[in-house]
Order: sequence, then C-alpha cells, then structure tokens
Amino acid sequence: MEHATSIHIGTGFVNGSQTYATLWAHELSHMWWGDKVTCETAQDMWLNEGFASFNEALYTQVVNGETAYRDWIRTNHRKVLQFAHTPAQEGSYLTMNNIPHEYTYGMTVYQKGADLVHTMRYYMGDSAFFAGCNAYMSNKAYSHASSFDLRNELTAGSGVNMNRFFDDWVFTPGNPHFSIDSVIHVPGGLDHMYVYTRQRSKGNNHLYEMPIELSFTNGIIETVVKVVIDSATNVFHVPLYFCQLGLRSTEENSE
Ligand SMILES: [Zn+2]
Repeated sequence: MEHATSIHIGTGFVNGSQTYATLWAHELSHMWWGDKVTCETAQDMWLNEGFASFNEALYTQVVNGETAYRDWIRTNHRKVLQFAHTPAQEGSYLTMNNIPHEYTYGMTVYQKGADLVHTMRYYMGDSAFFAGCNAYMSNKAYSHASSFDLRNELTAGSGVNMNRFFDDWVFTPGNPHFSIDSVIHVPGGLDHMYVYTRQRSKGNNHLYEMPIELSFTNGIIETVVKVVIDSATNVFHVPLYFCQLGLRSTEENSE
C-alpha cells in the first residue's frame, strides 16, 4: 500500500521468493504515480492505479522479457473486454476520467487503465512515450493532475499531439475492435495488395483513429507497413514485389 514517501509491503508478501514481485513493482511505482503526482480527483484514479498496474507489466518486460510482457498484456486485455462492464464488476462501460465513487478501485481503473497505458505506449512509440511521462512527472511534481493535464504534458514532452488519442480512449467509454475484412491481390510486375479493414465498437458509437501494422510475408521476406484506421471501413493499397512467391498475410495489433 502506498502512503506518500512511504510504501508499505505486508510481511506476508515478503517470503524469500519472487512470487509477489509484481505487487512490489506496483506499490513502489506509486512513489511516482500517485505520490510525486497525485490524481486531482478520485474520478481520475487511473492516473495513479492504471499506471501502477501498467508498471507490473513493465517490470515483467524488463525482468522476464518481451514474451512475458505480451502475455501479461493479453491476459489483462481479455479480462477487461470480458468482465469490466458486467454486473459482477461495474455494470456498464465507464469513461476513464469520470469514474463513479463506488468504482474508484474497480476493474476499469486498474486493469483497463493498464491496458490503456499499453495502447498509449504503442500509439506514441517508446521514446515519445517515456519522454512524455518524464515531462508529466517533472512539470506536475509534488502537485495534482487531471487526465487533461496528462494529455497536455504528454503532448508537450513528446511532440506527439495526444488530443485525438485522449478523445478516443480516455474521454469515450467502451472499446473498439479493428479487423481485416478481406484482402484482394492484383498480381503483376509489382503486386498490388488492397487490404480492407473494419472498425466496430462496444459501449459507444465512436469512430477511433488508430495506427496499426500490416505484415506481409511469403515465408522468407516480411514487409511491415504502418497504416491508420480512422473510419468504419478503410482500404489500404500496398504495392509489393514478392507476392508471386506465395503470399500469406497476417494481422497484428488488432486487439
Ligand atoms: Zn495501487
């Protein structure tokens, strides 16, 4: 449990093994996310607990590697999609910066918060993400902050305009789903791939703007193309050289 400048770990969680290591990572990270900068209101608790929960994943990545990190994120992501809005949890899709008091310490704040920070990290890229977080920590140090403050500090500290991301992910309840609807291959000297994507959502009627990676491979060469989904349906034209060799396409980052 965190108290400002004094993180407490119960003796039952210090047993000579690494069993509770992610708990320690979570609680110690509150020295920054919660204590150095405190959420302005309880409705914005994800600024403390979403980031502290994400730090469990970050610890896992540093200590146990990339696969362990992705496993942590996927397991958590599935839990959020499956349960956060159900009657056993919060009963509806909640907006991240307007959490009702009875759910201050609920699944949307902790688990969806962590999921959101991972999405933010991917959206910004690592160097911009960590630069933005550092700016937030420096400029809001020993003070309080709202989701709007975090958005503005991330933008100023990284050079990535975060207005649209926060409109989509923080100020809108629910979740998007991105998928590849179909792929048309027009062969030639240069092969033309037309990738049709589809966007759906649960808990809102909102259209998100999200960069995703399309990966094309013939089993030998892989080409990755970054595109931005911004409509209910999009089509992306990707010219490639190696299609004749037997192409298969895979979908990444569509969760
Ligand atoms: Zn916590």
